[in-house]
Amino acid sequence: MSDLITLTIDGRPVQAAPGTSILRAALDSGIYIPHLCDHPDLEPVGICRLCLVEIEGRRPTVSCKTPVEEGLVVRTSSADLDLIRKVNLELLIVNHDYNCQSCVKNSKCQLQKVTSYVGVDEKSLRRVRKPELDHPLDTSNPFFTRDMNKCVLCGICVRTCDEIQGDGCIDFAFRGTRTKISVLGDKPILESACVSCGECVARCPVGALVPVKFEEPAYEVETVCPYCGCGCGIIVGARGGRVVSSRAVPGNQVNRGSLCVKGRFGLGYVNHPGRLTALLIRKDGELVEAAWDEALALVAEKLNSYKGDQFAAIASAKCTSEDSYVIQKFARAVMGTNNIDHCARL
Ligand code: SF4
Ligand code: SF4
Ligand code: SF4
Ligand code: SF4
Repeated sequence: MSDLITLTIDGRPVQAAPGTSILRAALDSGIYIPHLCDHPDLEPVGICRLCLVEIEGRRPTVSCKTPVEEGLVVRTSSADLDLIRKVNLELLIVNHDYNCQSCVKNSKCQLQKVTSYVGVDEKSLRRVRKPELDHPLDTSNPFFTRDMNKCVLCGICVRTCDEIQGDGCIDFAFRGTRTKISVLGDKPILESACVSCGECVARCPVGALVPVKFEEPAYEVETVCPYCGCGCGIIVGARGGRVVSSRAVPGNQVNRGSLCVKGRFGLGYVNHPGRLTALLIRKDGELVEAAWDEALALVAEKLNSYKGDQFAAIASAKCTSEDSYVIQKFARAVMGTNNIDHCARL
């Protein structure tokens, strides 16, 4: 017996698990309902008021916070809904700094998708436009830029920092048309408790939070982060033989779609000209390339000349627990020392 709930959305039968919001049930079935503040990784808050729907026998309601029920009959569009949605959107973006051609998010922007659906554009906004915002760009962080003139106050970054990263270093600040997302004391984000994980950047639906270095990858490859033993799943983007992007594998069992600053922004070393790409050993005072056999024989010979506390082993955070176990075993059982340490993180 199926425990799925069946409802009707825009005349189409839709099935969803109990507890699913009407918005997610519709989106998963290929029925678009405009939204800006909802994100599948986060608790719904219903603050953008764009995902309004009509449910037979009830007043218009936000679909992101309304769970599916057996037999519901839902409409995502009507003259009343469309009007309310349009006014809500106009108020939300009345100060938006429209400059799509020079925006990193151009063609991937949720606001473009919503405005196109609702029928609001820069021209139609002129009748309600107030003086434009002039928030200074926050370029303090070496990995991402914050442009609050493009922010739609969806709160996704705030909830991401709180619910996913557990950092809570950003929140809504000020009031009315001056409302913006800020850190404590409205300082540059680098002076806050932000750990530069970029989780908020990855989820911002518009061009308000963008990576400093961004190039559209020509192709992407799924792999494992090379930095630490956590082994997060990453999708690395490449172009012209260079690594140009990194993002988390959605739903990966290890990192559940999240990355730390190293996995997200730290892969530039791959293309660094100073990176070692061959084994080097010192001969007559000079570092020269060597084959694995030669290098390993040299290491074995050198290890034989140390015993006991003359020797120390320092394991790396890049190692798995199993690798770390083997290193301490080697130090204790073979080299005869307890001089063992570990750089707990990189
Ligand atoms: S955030 Fe979106 S709508 Fe705004 S300028 Fe950038 S691409 Fe255009
Ligand atoms: S910065 Fe982006 S994610 Fe944060 S509130 Fe503004 S639009 Fe939403
Ligand atoms: S980068 Fe990470 S820690 Fe910093 S504000 Fe965004 S989510 Fe919070
Ligand atoms: S360095 Fe960060 S992203 Fe990479 S595996 Fe470790 S925790 Fe995951």
